[in-house]
Amino acid sequence: MFQYLQGQLYCEQVDLKTLAAQHGTPAYVYSKNAILERWHEYQRALCSIPNRVCYAVKANSNLAVLATLARAGAGFDIVSGGELFRVLKAGGDPASVVFSGVGKTANEISFALERGIHSFNCESEAEIALISQIASASGLKASIALRVNPDVNAKTHPYISTGLREHKFGVDINAAEDIYRRAALLPGITAEGVSCHIGSQLLELDPLLEAADKTLALVARLREGGLPIRFLDLGGGLGVKYRPNERNASIADFAARLRPKLESLNLTLMLEPGRSIVAEAGILLTQVLLIKRNGQKTFVIVDGAMNDLLRPALYQAHHEVTPVIEMPAETMTADVVGPVCETGDFFARDRRLPALQPGDLIALRTAGAYGFVLSSNYNSRPRPCELLIDGRRVFVARSRETFDDLMRGESLP
Ligand SMILES: *Cc1c(COP(=O)(O)O)cnc(C)c1O
Repeated sequence: MFQYLQGQLYCEQVDLKTLAAQHGTPAYVYSKNAILERWHEYQRALCSIPNRVCYAVKANSNLAVLATLARAGAGFDIVSGGELFRVLKAGGDPASVVFSGVGKTANEISFALERGIHSFNCESEAEIALISQIASASGLKASIALRVNPDVNAKTHPYISTGLREHKFGVDINAAEDIYRRAALLPGITAEGVSCHIGSQLLELDPLLEAADKTLALVARLREGGLPIRFLDLGGGLGVKYRPNERNASIADFAARLRPKLESLNLTLMLEPGRSIVAEAGILLTQVLLIKRNGQKTFVIVDGAMNDLLRPALYQAHHEVTPVIEMPAETMTADVVGPVCETGDFFARDRRLPALQPGDLIALRTAGAYGFVLSSNYNSRPRPCELLIDGRRVFVARSRETFDDLMRGESLP
């Protein structure tokens, strides 16, 4: 959905140079149809498997993005009361919401119960007890799944790997049966799901399939013990190509390899994809302020910064740098950095780039997931606008913050 047409980079049918002139930089730009395409890819791949796909809101929680997915029939995976509030505002169906996360507060649990969400993915026995207490006090029944830790190595960046025993997430799969047995005796809950989420940006399917095997074996044991397990939630985690030469597993392959495992089990498969739905649908559009040379090094200083897109600083993540006006081959090696007062404020290091000049626009690619949601006002920088493109239409999904926005809620003593 981002491609050159006569030497200019477009998002769908909107050229990014004109867009920058009209809305300023830095700006997040999302292709609505790229998001929908990925959503439909999941639907097509899973069509012969009873399924419920719950988009992981934390990847990109803009209301317009949520509304786009809600209208397409998506469920949602949330990790806070705030995310539930957003989903409801966007027109999402609470009955297709799953609530994940290691530390749900009593208020968040009550809010979710009142709105009638589908289920809670519980991460500890203490949490199950709390949900039981709150639900039974108000005469409600909560559907729960226990998030188990299948102890598989997801082979991804340590900060986004979650499926090993030493991580804070989930409970040891070997302790799960006892926990289910005790949970079955509690009022106000129905333990009818098993869930896991082993990590993010997984480029290979093997760890996901190993997690599927281990959780399916648990489902079988629980059913033998008399527990009516109806849902298996394998979480999110499918990776995307941040580099052109990277290879990622396709949604279709994942589904094809899962299908035989699930046949005639009478089990609804749930998935919680975030990144694989929105990452490639977004860019951060930013403008070169100046070129600076320090000794041997060249710095391309742009108007976007780590407060706008934190992934490179946080995970040493790679984002392709694409000039908005097509340029001849790369002729320089430079760091692309922002104006924030931190050495960690970089978008690219020692990158081969075309001869960029002040005023040139560049797109930081694959920024639709974990981009704006991780942004901050550090250095008192107003956060960028978010623009959703649909064909030739531009929708301002979030307006650029103003200086007044920076101080909202503050007061002078
Ligand atoms: C973050 C997260 C997801 C989404 O992961 P992606 O890698 O973005 O697909 C799904 N489920 C849970 C529990 C998560 O924490």
